[in-house]
Parts: sequence; C-alpha cells; structure tokens
Amino acid sequence: MTAAAGPVAWPEGKRAAASFTFDVDGESAVLWGSPQNADRMSVVSHQAYGPLVGVPRLLGLLERHRIRSTFFVPGYTAHRYPAVVRDIVAAGHEVAHHGYLHEQPTGVGAQEEADNLDRGLAALAEVAGVRPVGYRAPMWDLSWRSPALLAERGFLYDSSLMDADAPYELALTPGAATSIVEIPIQWALDDWEQYCYLPDVSGTGLIETPRKARELWQGEFEGLRSVGGCWVLTNHPFLSGRPARAQQLDELMAHVVSCTDVWTASLEEVATHVRTLGLPPRSVDHPGDLPQR
Ligand code: ZN
Repeated sequence: MTAAAGPVAWPEGKRAAASFTFDVDGESAVLWGSPQNADRMSVVSHQAYGPLVGVPRLLGLLERHRIRSTFFVPGYTAHRYPAVVRDIVAAGHEVAHHGYLHEQPTGVGAQEEADNLDRGLAALAEVAGVRPVGYRAPMWDLSWRSPALLAERGFLYDSSLMDADAPYELALTPGAATSIVEIPIQWALDDWEQYCYLPDVSGTGLIETPRKARELWQGEFEGLRSVGGCWVLTNHPFLSGRPARAQQLDELMAHVVSCTDVWTASLEEVATHVRTLGLPPRSVDHPGDLPQR
C-alpha cells in the first residue's frame, strides 16, 4: 500500500497553511445535473445569485482582510458572466479550472473528459486572458485518468482528493516519477452541505445556521493548525455570498489571519511552495479486482 503523505515544511517558519477558496458554479452545476433545470426560472435565479451578488460581496471581504484567494470558475460561468470573472482577476485573485459545464470526470469517457478540460481552458483564456495552473474536479470527483490529463495541459496542481492533511506530489499514474501537486480537501470544509437546499435538485432540506457552519470550519482549522496541515475552505458564492453567511465568513477570516503561525495564501501559492520541496510522488491505491460476491 502507498504510505500516508507526511507533514510538509511551510514558508517563513509557519506552522500550518490556510486557503479560502470559492467555486463559482453559477448555473453550471444544476444544468449538468439536469438540462431541464434551464426551464426553471427560480432555480436559475438561485444559482445566478452567486455571480451577481455573492462574488462582489466576497471580493470586498477578501480585500478588507488582504487575503489572496482562489476562484474555481467553470467555463460556462465565464461565458455567462465575463465581467465578474474579469473583476476577480483585477482584484488580484487566482482563477482556476472547474470544468466547462461542471462535468464530473467520472461521469464521462476519456475523450469527453479531455475535451471538457480544453473547453474550460479556452473559455478562461477568451474571457479573462487566464491560463490556470490549478484544477478542482466538479463534485470533487477526480477520475483515475485526470492527473495525467492535467499534466499534459501544464497544470501545476489539483485540489480534489481527501487522503492527507497536507499537500503532496500526486503521481500521474501509480509508481510514476512525474506528478502534479495535490492540495487535499474534505467535505466538512464545503458550504454545500451546510446551506444548499433546492427542492428536487440538491440538498437535504436542512439549512444550517451560519454560526454553526463557522463553528465547524473553525474547529477543522484549529485541528489542522495543530498538526501542521493545510486548511482549505470551499465556499460557493451562491450560498456563502448571502449576507448573514458572509458576516460569519468575515469573522472567520479575521480569526484565521490573526493567527500569525498560519500562512494564509492562494492555492497557487501553496502549490508553488510545495513543488520546491521535492517530495517523492505517491498515489492513491486503486482497489483493483474485487472478490466475487
Ligand atoms: Zn463546483
């Protein structure tokens, strides 16, 4: 079995790292889930809140706390809201790849997965002149072939896997010497499970209070801080951009940046640092052939 990824050294003697990241799904995720959602005006409006209202509010928070963030933008969002994506770039944040129409890599074939990567790249280049170095699989659902497809296109890092507290070098295939940087995430640090409720579309019907969500995320922050890990929060502007939630996020940002033993950075900065460490590539072990039932 592949050994667990170990702790990493952080810049300037910091003990741990933290990153606030945003997935600007807009309408893409619900349209990939079901094209019929295009006919539902209220559902479309629920998602449009993100680019229209959430992103400007969140950019204000980040500016106030002087945090450089990473925004994962599907190509479809870039085409629908080009000015919003340009605003993100103009504010100095990283724009990274998140599919074209939020296609789950495991839900398509090899050629389609490659085509979706290329369409997303073309959209970000066309709209904002961006060549992203980072990728996050829609639904955090990386396929076994994704690492090699990303490396072929010059990506530096992915942020979709969950088997470590700190970043590591992800081998393109098991045993390969070539790799991309992996910056792990986890479901407890995603706002979708706390806030998303769209009847017939997504969510459990339970919408948590912003205070509860912040408590969960801050607890995970303290845990990862104590072990020298990398805390990566994933928020969606259509969810966390609403005022009461943004207020709690504001307080959480204030807490994180007040921790002088923690390096707050974009994922691009984290990946660039990790690449300098020369870590040996590792992979996730495929379960292989299962016993007959
Ligand atoms: Zn997404």
